[in-house]
Amino acid sequence: MTAQPFEVKPYPEMWESLDMDVPRFEKSRQMLGEVYTNMYLSQTNRPAKMQYFDDMVSEIFGGRIQEMLEVKKTGKPIVGTFCVYIPEEVVVAAGGVCVGLCGGSQGSVPDAEKILPRNICPMVKSAYGFKAGRICPYFQTVDFVYGETTCDAKKKTWEILDRLVPTHVMEIPQMKNKRDKTLWLEEVHDFKAKVEDVCGEEITTEKLAQAIRVINNKRKALQRLTALRAHNPAPISGKDALLLEQIAFYDEPVRFAEKVNELCDELEERVKNDDGVADKSAPRVMVSGTPMALPNWKVHNLIETAGAVVVNEESCIGTRYFKDLIDENKSTMDEQLSVLTDRYMQIDCSCFTPNDDRVDQVLKEYRDSNAQGILHYSLQFCHTYNIEEIKIREACEKEGIPYLSIESDYSPEDVGQLQTRIEAFLEQIRE
Ligand code: SF4
Ligand code: SF4
Repeated sequence: MTAQPFEVKPYPEMWESLDMDVPRFEKSRQMLGEVYTNMYLSQTNRPAKMQYFDDMVSEIFGGRIQEMLEVKKTGKPIVGTFCVYIPEEVVVAAGGVCVGLCGGSQGSVPDAEKILPRNICPMVKSAYGFKAGRICPYFQTVDFVYGETTCDAKKKTWEILDRLVPTHVMEIPQMKNKRDKTLWLEEVHDFKAKVEDVCGEEITTEKLAQAIRVINNKRKALQRLTALRAHNPAPISGKDALLLEQIAFYDEPVRFAEKVNELCDELEERVKNDDGVADKSAPRVMVSGTPMALPNWKVHNLIETAGAVVVNEESCIGTRYFKDLIDENKSTMDEQLSVLTDRYMQIDCSCFTPNDDRVDQVLKEYRDSNAQGILHYSLQFCHTYNIEEIKIREACEKEGIPYLSIESDYSPEDVGQLQTRIEAFLEQIRE
């Protein structure tokens, strides 16, 4: 029996009912299937438990959307977000679904550039373009979206996005003093009230406690995966690990944690047997910087095609999303929201100033992951990460860590130039 070729499954009737531009979206679906086949299924010695995540990609525009629509029918909220600061525990406590809507595709950028300036971050343009072009079933499913004031491109885009989908904005402080936490706590209270308003039910301490456990478990599973990647030879490719970190923003959290743990059981066996996806002598690279939203696999693909392996992502689609947990032992709503706020205030996004904790965190993750070099990745026009890169570079120079900084967008135009620079960087590690 010959194996069926991989495909991202089509659901034209459902897409029609979601008011999508179906002919155009059909092309994106096919393209994603081809890219996934070339970049992912061509890898050798992949863990067998990656099958679930392949299936998730296959159903990413279908089965998962159907599940969300079932939840929506019950009156529970479906909330779209663009930042790891939005507390998903609150949405899960209301029985709803929180879904990441950050855009990682060049395909939707021209839709955004019809109205937004060209010289802003591609993540913002890609996300906006998905809604403007009606080419994202997640955007078409959400009840409302919650933006934030992390960077200028985002906070001003929310005003324009609000014309297309109800868009609320959370004020994220820019510093980490006591008064900033007070502001953030108030914003969390408002967010809870908004979610309660949509579902028409109060979020009780019991429900929030359960949601905190669910999301902590998801984060713990990803921590476990990260720890296993520190082994040499790496038991899983960086591309596969990045895919899991991306799917964490779409999948049902209890099932996702269970599947990541099953994969980790397999990886533990691999570690015991010294079974890896790359040779022990393959250069080990840590990637640090701006998030890589699905399907942005460009840099990981270049690094791993050149014979190296990515062993860590210090990023919001990476460790920044799951390194910190919420204290589960609080019994009143005020205490719960306070410890929740504490946890979120630990996120070291470059939108904060000063943000020196991130420099220490990058060095810690470099050591913990047994990496041999750091590649700093910044999306074009992301001023905060681009400027913070100076401190990361200086810290690497001081520690003698091989280092490369790249700035890129989602277009394939710079692939040749990036490949040359990455190969030279890997040579530096090999020396
Ligand atoms: S990089 Fe900053 S703005 Fe972007 S998702 Fe992370 S915390 Fe939010
Ligand atoms: S990568 Fe930078 S510019 Fe882009 S959305 Fe995130 S913080 Fe804003």
